[in-house]
Amino acid sequence: MHPNPTLPPGLIDALRSARAVTVLTGAGISAESGLPTFRDPTDGIWSRFRPQDLATPAAFRANPALVWAWYAELKARADAAEPSAGHRALAALERHVPRLTLLTQNIDSLHQRAGSTGVVELHGTLARVRCLDEDVVVEDPVPVDGDGPPCCPRCGGLLRPDIVWFEELLPEAALRAAQSAAEACDLFLAVGTSLVVEPAASLPYRALSHGASVAILNLDVTERVTPPLFLLHGRAGELLPALVRAAWPNAEV
Ligand code: NAD
Repeated sequence: MHPNPTLPPGLIDALRSARAVTVLTGAGISAESGLPTFRDPTDGIWSRFRPQDLATPAAFRANPALVWAWYAELKARADAAEPSAGHRALAALERHVPRLTLLTQNIDSLHQRAGSTGVVELHGTLARVRCLDEDVVVEDPVPVDGDGPPCCPRCGGLLRPDIVWFEELLPEAALRAAQSAAEACDLFLAVGTSLVVEPAASLPYRALSHGASVAILNLDVTERVTPPLFLLHGRAGELLPALVRAAWPNAEV
């Protein structure tokens, strides 16, 4: 059972009456599944390296085995984790709003494992690999002896996680889908994201400027209710289930 936070009635009404809701999630929603955010101090491989020093194409070319091991560790953690109450609440929300678009910056597949469909993965996914040289997704990687990344069955080149690194552009189709969903929604929720990584960070402002209500649910915001902008301080795993239940008391969350 989760505590029931007090939620602004204006936000509950906005959710209940919305024809289209767009949600943007970040690492904070997966923190409650036990996965570290970029900025949390933590154990193991995450505490020994700065992600910024590893998550670039140049870092991968300089030391593919190290970068591969780092992401292999993250993927192993993600695969062993369970979706959080926040992930599950968003999967439930899909059954109540006429149109829900779920955008995520996460690469851990936890939304899909919670039951969300049509997730727009802005920063790619650890579930796929692609050839560094040919820039195509590879379904049947060839393992190598030792610690390095597997290699491409077609060209023998290095394979990398199909994710977006610093200095790289977002997948064009995902970015276009995100921008349209921000412009077309009545309510935009940003959950567990520090909103410092562009272009995802601009999406709530794009929604606001197109007439939507916007709610930011995060542990590092100061509570403020000035409709159409709602800043809610709290854990995604408490706020999201409470919000869905407040709008639809019979919702199975
Ligand atoms: P971030 O690390 O910059 O920010 C996380 C935010 O979540 C912070 O603002 C923090 O206050 C908030 N937060 C932490 N716990 C929370 C909780 N329980 N409930 C609500 N909010 C909580 O992450 P970001 O904004 O997603 O951007 C950084 C990049 O990190 C993204 O590109 C993402 O791909 C990558 N990343 C992904 C994962 C993952 O897939 N699980 C993990 C780490 C980093």
